[in-house]
Amino acid sequence: MERQAGFPFAFACRRSGNCCAIPGGFVRVTAAEATAIAAHLALSPAAFASRYLQPDGQRLKEGLGHRCVFLQDGAEAGCAIYAVRPAKCRAWPFWPEVLTDPGLRRLVERTCPGVVPLDG
Ligand code: SF4
Repeated sequence: MERQAGFPFAFACRRSGNCCAIPGGFVRVTAAEATAIAAHLALSPAAFASRYLQPDGQRLKEGLGHRCVFLQDGAEAGCAIYAVRPAKCRAWPFWPEVLTDPGLRRLVERTCPGVVPLDG
């Protein structure tokens, strides 16, 4: 189980894929991340942006049913760009805003079967 100082839960990924399919959620990508993902997929930056980025160029498009376009189904969910996934995905569920937003903390704990509250 992974822990980080100050966070009220421990975490061990159960490969549910739930964190990649939160209704209303989105995956923000920086310009550097977009460049790295495009290279990983052997796409030009323009082709990557056209296929996988929202018009604002800062978020991934959604796949079916609010799912991330790179989420792969299976008994264990996977990420098609795991080696170059965005920082926000790497940091889940230890997002700083979870510490200041009780609603987001509840959402994280409800969404992710790998999150285990430490306070009972
Ligand atoms: S980029 Fe990968 S890790 Fe991030 S939300 Fe999409 S499928 Fe999940």
